[in-house]
Amino acid sequence: MLIVNGTLVTWGENNRILSDHALNVEGSVIKAIGKPQELMGRYPQAEQLDARGQLVMPGNICAHTHFYGAYARGVAIPGSAPKNFPQILEQLWWPLDKALDKETIRTSALVCLVDAIKHGTTTLIDHHASPNFIEGSLDVIAKAVDKAGLRAVLCYEVTDRDGEDKMRAGIAENVRFIKMAKAHQRVRGTFGLHGSLTLDDITLRACADAIPSGDGFHIHVAEHEADEDNSIRRSGKRVVPRLQEFGIWGDKTIAAHCVHIDDNERQILQDSGTWVTHQPRSNMNNAVGAAKIDEMLAHGMKVCLGNDGFSNNMWADWKDAYLLHKVVNRDPRRANGADIARMATYNNARLVERFFSGMNIGELTEGARADLIFVDYHPYTPLNEGNLAWHILFGFEASMVTTTIVDGVVLMRDRVLYTLDETEIVAEALELAPIVWEQYAKNANAVLAAKH
Ligand SMILES: [Zn+2]
Repeated sequence: MLIVNGTLVTWGENNRILSDHALNVEGSVIKAIGKPQELMGRYPQAEQLDARGQLVMPGNICAHTHFYGAYARGVAIPGSAPKNFPQILEQLWWPLDKALDKETIRTSALVCLVDAIKHGTTTLIDHHASPNFIEGSLDVIAKAVDKAGLRAVLCYEVTDRDGEDKMRAGIAENVRFIKMAKAHQRVRGTFGLHGSLTLDDITLRACADAIPSGDGFHIHVAEHEADEDNSIRRSGKRVVPRLQEFGIWGDKTIAAHCVHIDDNERQILQDSGTWVTHQPRSNMNNAVGAAKIDEMLAHGMKVCLGNDGFSNNMWADWKDAYLLHKVVNRDPRRANGADIARMATYNNARLVERFFSGMNIGELTEGARADLIFVDYHPYTPLNEGNLAWHILFGFEASMVTTTIVDGVVLMRDRVLYTLDETEIVAEALELAPIVWEQYAKNANAVLAAKH
């Protein structure tokens, strides 16, 4: 497939913007980049895909999300409004994940995957919880990802909040899936942990013993002060040193949020090569504070960008990261556009490559995976390598994504989805939503009743 008549944005270490260039895709890989006439001469038989003057870029990557949260959209939370993050967990997320079964896990994933294709997000790192359907839950999601044609890294959230049997089932699901997914073309597994505050020492030891060697964890870290307070009460240590004792950190582990870590904790994460993900929309919504991302980046830490279950329009998280740190610090120099671009493109891509070893992802270069999007953006001021991040921050809209390609396969062209039937998926989700909401309300009311 020869993509012609586009302006290529390569990303990668040395981002280039190449106007009037063509790109040849063979199978799942970018085979050649060059002038249109030259490539048409070299590949006369190739089917041509006309980009019609749009930007052709690597697909967006989301480093931390939760497909299972899809049914939270528009739900009414029983009782008085949660006043802090621990109450949001107790009143919203934990009663909701207990309401999911096989069918609603599948539809939650599918609605998020439709959203991802439409917003040009081609790889997603998901963190799943469904305490009443654990074994095989990751297969259900993997099947949906497979059908969508997207790329994903999946895990199951191990926690003590639902008792030992479910904790053990969560461990088994991670181990089973990590091994099974190694042979998959576009899906990988990692080992999910909820967060220090719902994991006791016996559980952490069991996880450390069970994880296949060479693999890493995906865990929430110090999203709210409650995680640190709980850790100090349990162990006399803060979260990061506590989990260090169990070998949780390393260059295959993802630490989501890290809003409340101190300098020592930052140093441990840095020394161990742990990946940190930043989710500004979520942090603002939960009113948990703002992670010190500038400081972490200045120390050379690998900070990535996720959406924590918000829409799969990653440019919204670009924009909110850009704004959040300026207002929190009352300093317009914070969260520089170039730093945000580096987190969202270069760092996110390197993280994904840790799971898809041997693949080059997130860059338009010969030999890289053909995960591409077309963006219908026509700037009225000059666009160049130096100011691209600010064009994205101030000019890009999710609706400008017209075409999404993963592994050389077209998933959406001119806003028409090829792999998923959105009308059918939405109809199924709508039919199941009242059942999920009713079960959720029962679970949430039980939590409230137990408190009184
Ligand atoms: Zn999360």
